[in-house]
Amino acid sequence: MLGTDYSFDAQADLPGVAFAAMRLIILAQAKAANMTVLEDSDNHLTVETAHGLIGLRPGETSEAAGMVAAKDARWLFVMKNAVLQQMRHLMPEVAEAMRWSDAETQGEFPPNFSFVRVREVVELGPVFLRVTLEGEDLSAHGDDAIHFRLVLPPRDAEPQWPGVAANGSITWPEGPAAPHRPVYTARAVDYNANTILMDVFVHEGGRTTDWAQQLLMGIRARQIVGVIGPSGGGLMQADHVLMASDETGFPAAARILENLPDGATGQVILEAEEGASCDYPIAVPEGLSLIWLSRAKGERLDTATLAALSKHKGAKAWFAGERAQATRVRETAKAAGWEAGDLRVSGFWRAAPAD
Ligand SMILES: Cc1cc2nc3c(=O)[nH]c(=O)nc-3n(C[C@H](O)[C@H](O)[C@H](O)COP(=O)(O)OP(=O)(O)OC[C@H]3O[C@@H](n4cnc5c(N)ncnc54)[C@H](O)[C@@H]3O)c2cc1C
Repeated sequence: MLGTDYSFDAQADLPGVAFAAMRLIILAQAKAANMTVLEDSDNHLTVETAHGLIGLRPGETSEAAGMVAAKDARWLFVMKNAVLQQMRHLMPEVAEAMRWSDAETQGEFPPNFSFVRVREVVELGPVFLRVTLEGEDLSAHGDDAIHFRLVLPPRDAEPQWPGVAANGSITWPEGPAAPHRPVYTARAVDYNANTILMDVFVHEGGRTTDWAQQLLMGIRARQIVGVIGPSGGGLMQADHVLMASDETGFPAAARILENLPDGATGQVILEAEEGASCDYPIAVPEGLSLIWLSRAKGERLDTATLAALSKHKGAKAWFAGERAQATRVRETAKAAGWEAGDLRVSGFWRAAPAD
């Protein structure tokens, strides 16, 4: 991202916050997350994150001010919300009092929110539904952040949508009208037609499954939904990869695999209830081997991934699966000496606690 034009920026005074103390907190977080410190002087700190800059500046009415910069208004909003989330955790009263120099108009839709219309839902094999979402301008959904949050009103309530609070944070409707906000992957984006393909894994009790199945049956009550994003990680430019995923990560894995550099090598491990017979279309490049695991036969993604790690030292490891499994893989890999920068291990869903 170095050299990116971060021409959208904003500052917000941090009342009562000491520059030196906040500098140490940001530097510790930057180190833990492997971020680059671009500037660190007496009164200026600038750190580059995956999607923009954060830092500290002298405040106008306080000793320190938070600074964010990004390439467009959407990412600026995301950066502001990331700072607010941290501040809410550290000093909630400061987060509440913050006012950004380019303040959004309170009550408006967040800049990274847009409405989309479901154009089509089709079955994609026995356990996936492919939903085509159509919007007005989906150009922000590029290769550097391939996920988004679906904003799905509940079945039987008048739809209500997110807004912006005085401190620039996103506000969500609460109570019976609160929308469901699961994260999904843009399997493909057609910038001419302004469409996103989203592949929904059909599972028991899923509210997104229910929505997509209703549309498949021609029930159009929730044909208009919202999208917040883009967000999350992007494609991987790596010559040697170890990729492991259950169904929730298949769309992301498929998109990453089809964009790996020519000649890439490594291994792909995919887990589904009945293994390969889930028939999800996923093309694995020639230099990579593919293993299918079957949950029905008791095979487990985390166990197979951990067994494969030692054979792929130096690779970029990408894992998408159940949260507890992801934690096990991340912690074991770190203990085995894997660098944080070579690990993209994510919990894509969370199993319901056992009764
Ligand atoms: C970055 C990212 C990208 C993702 N991309 C995709 C994608 O492209 N396609 C996709 O299908 N999913 C994807 N997911 C996973 C998806 O967000 C979760 O599965 C989410 O919980 C789905 O919500 P829901 O409405 O289906 O279920 P909810 O209504 O939220 O949950 C209902 C119940 O279903 C359970 N549940 C949730 N997921 C699963 C599962 N996979 N298997 C079994 N039970 C489950 C929950 O524990 C809960 O008990 C992604 C997640 C992340 C973080």
